[in-house]
Amino acid sequence: PDLARDVASSLRAIPDFPEPGVVFKDFTPLLLDTALRDRVVADVVRRRAGAVDVVIGVEARGFILGSIIAHELGVGFVPVRKEGKLPADTHSVSYTLEYGSATIELHTDAVWPGQRVLVVDDVLATGGTAAATVELVGRCGGQTVAVEVVLELGFLNGRDQLAGTEVHALLTD
Ligand code: IMP
Repeated sequence: PDLARDVASSLRAIPDFPEPGVVFKDFTPLLLDTALRDRVVADVVRRRAGAVDVVIGVEARGFILGSIIAHELGVGFVPVRKEGKLPADTHSVSYTLEYGSATIELHTDAVWPGQRVLVVDDVLATGGTAAATVELVGRCGGQTVAVEVVLELGFLNGRDQLAGTEVHALLTD
């Protein structure tokens, strides 16, 4: 609860970003607070130590904490990227957004059959991105052990898209 409180006070709410009516939660101040950042990483590592073979970070903010967490867990890091960014053979999953759709990709050889995968991102909003990432892991034959996010926007019910997958948020709004 102390960690959640401290994370809550480090997040900035930016109104009307990236478009009018949206309040964007910005976690970049947390990255500058080294003590708090270490506590956030340690919290995830304590929960997942020994239970994960590889960490996936979702472009772009998931790369930051995901890399640190992978380092601390002593496992590899794999990027899931927006369409067209990964150079080798990819699996590709599209999902719908409020307006339009998005496609994300994963290298086909980055996750092996049977591997236990931890997915890391900053924010769980509608859950579309996380659900598509879990789908990508499945295409490789991997097993998503959990999705870890700093902040869950509970009113968007993103968890409903992730039935069967453990979702852990440090903080729920
Ligand atoms: P979803 O697919 O709607 O769950 O959106 C999640 C993705 O959008 C994640 O990759 C987040 O990084 C990003 N996102 C959505 N809302 C916010 C926000 O308020 N702050 C930071 N990132 C956000």
